[in-house]
Amino acid sequence: MVSPLHSNGRAELQDDKVVTSLGEMATRPDIRPELLLRLSGKLQTTLELSQLLEIFFDEMQQAVLVDGMSFSHSGNNLLLSYGRNSVHSASYRLQTHQDYMGDLVFHRSTRFREHELANIEGLLSTLVYPMRNALRYHEALAASFRDPLTGAGNRVALDRTLTRELELAKRHGQNLSILMLDLDHFKLVNDEYGHSMGDQVLKEAASCMTNCIRQTDMCFRYGGEEFLILLSNAESAGALRIAERIRKSIGALAFNNDKGSLQITCSVGCATMNLDDSVDSLIQRADDALYMAKRNGRNRVICDTDEMEIPAEQTERR
Ligand code: GH3
Ligand code: MG
Ligand code: MG
Repeated sequence: MVSPLHSNGRAELQDDKVVTSLGEMATRPDIRPELLLRLSGKLQTTLELSQLLEIFFDEMQQAVLVDGMSFSHSGNNLLLSYGRNSVHSASYRLQTHQDYMGDLVFHRSTRFREHELANIEGLLSTLVYPMRNALRYHEALAASFRDPLTGAGNRVALDRTLTRELELAKRHGQNLSILMLDLDHFKLVNDEYGHSMGDQVLKEAASCMTNCIRQTDMCFRYGGEEFLILLSNAESAGALRIAERIRKSIGALAFNNDKGSLQITCSVGCATMNLDDSVDSLIQRADDALYMAKRNGRNRVICDTDEMEIPAEQTERR
């Protein structure tokens, strides 16, 4: 079995090279076998990606001194860096026949020599399989925090994240706001267009929310057709702006089907953290605001600080 490491040179490597974990390089590596053995052993001690790369970075210094190393994997949205950046770099793509396992860049203030590149390639061959296992572990872990239908975070992820973010925001004196969003009359979508159309609407609505927020913000499926959006570092006016943007984008979605084109709306409740808030009290205020948005006619955003009036004729709970 061949496990090619595809090395694509930026600074020092002139040509694209394919080397295999079995060897066959133009310049042979001159790494002590004990070092390779020890490195292989150490790389098998963890499934945690950042630990694995840290071990590799530390151990490789015995064979080739480098100032820094960075790892990226676009599919998994990963970027990890060790040491520091420098002017010279050598880039490698980690790839087996089946799996792409990311890109590694090594940095150094002096040029890499040919035999040093051969040594890096020799060392990298020990990383391929531990890396594949660590990536699978990372992906499995990430999936366990995701709602399978919409790709939004699930309740487990929400509980952990909101507790942590609330603490951090208080400690650093930063703002934090949340939005509770519920699709309007969603039961009718299922009833009139079928459950699978309902599922498609949920998926697209969630992706619409994700597209309207920053990378540091997060979207969770709170249940059914209800979502919670966590806006870090957002004060009330900023949160309101984002909520309006989401409301309008969801309202602009059109789902074509044999009965014509279906459009949906949503209602949003918005709450900004107070210093004495707990996770529950913050969610409660956003939920109360959402309740008011429903009561006042749906397809609107209400903030917890807005004057809330319950129309006299409506008394039953959402
Ligand atoms: P309101 O404007 O008051 O929120 O009305 P609504 O119809 O949206 O609310 P209601 O709670 O009466 O109905 C929610 C519906 O969402 C009922 C349920 O079948 C549907 N639903 C929940 N989860 C899913 C899902 O995963 N897929 C689909 N297709 N439907 C779902
Ligand atoms: Mg609803
Ligand atoms: Mg609901």
